Amino acid sequence: MTGWSENFSYKYLKLLLETVKNNFIDVKFTEYTGLKKINKPMILLRHDVDVSLDHALNIAAIENNFGLKATYYIKVNSGLYDVFSKKNTAIIKNILDYNHDIGLHFVLCDKLRKESLSTAHISNMIDEDCFKLKQITKIPIKTISFHRPLSQFRDLPLFINNRIRAFSSELTEWYLSDSRCCWREGEPLPKFTPPFEKSMLQLLIHPIWWSEKHLSGPDRLQIFFLNKTIKLTDQQTLHFDQILSETIPSVKRTNAKII
Ligand SMILES: [Zn+2]
Repeated sequence: MTGWSENFSYKYLKLLLETVKNNFIDVKFTEYTGLKKINKPMILLRHDVDVSLDHALNIAAIENNFGLKATYYIKVNSGLYDVFSKKNTAIIKNILDYNHDIGLHFVLCDKLRKESLSTAHISNMIDEDCFKLKQITKIPIKTISFHRPLSQFRDLPLFINNRIRAFSSELTEWYLSDSRCCWREGEPLPKFTPPFEKSMLQLLIHPIWWSEKHLSGPDRLQIFFLNKTIKLTDQQTLHFDQILSETIPSVKRTNAKII
């Protein structure tokens, strides 16, 4: 794989965020439309919570220490975490207390992905999911990101049902992501110092790839898998493995049996 995946430790992440704090103005997605031009480039900090809210909370705290605000996109129908559990509800409130935003990370299950759904159809589903998420946040959900967006939903406008869509072309002219535990465009840190490519950067960081110690993506998923399945039956473990593999099909955990 091309790209850069040499350091996914919190130490390196803190270096990235410190550099971001010094050189950019951090902006929430929901603040974007009301902004005037400023002399520093803007940054939209985005986190898609695919796998674990515990990892998300760690990063929310680190960002808060730097005085940075971000948007955490959360699933309401993840097979890997129960958004309505007492523990996870508390985590979401904690993230909001750190002055971050909560958005919806919208998921279509594998079965629905194979059907040719219209935008109108998914609009209803998005409304329903946002309604569920609002029961936890107590504030309206005004922004969404798509989990593994299908091609027919890539060229949609900035707004869907009055909600800002993170992956719209207007917001991704300059876009960096650690998808698949790899920075496709190379090491990110040098890109956060002048001269800058554009006046606004969207930076997508997936919390699952980061911890105190650097690990590869497959090793990271393996540790997560072992921790989560330790008390499960063989059948439950197999089911969990399938969901993990469906959630991140592009990275196989070390020793994964499912192909
Ligand atoms: Zn996702």
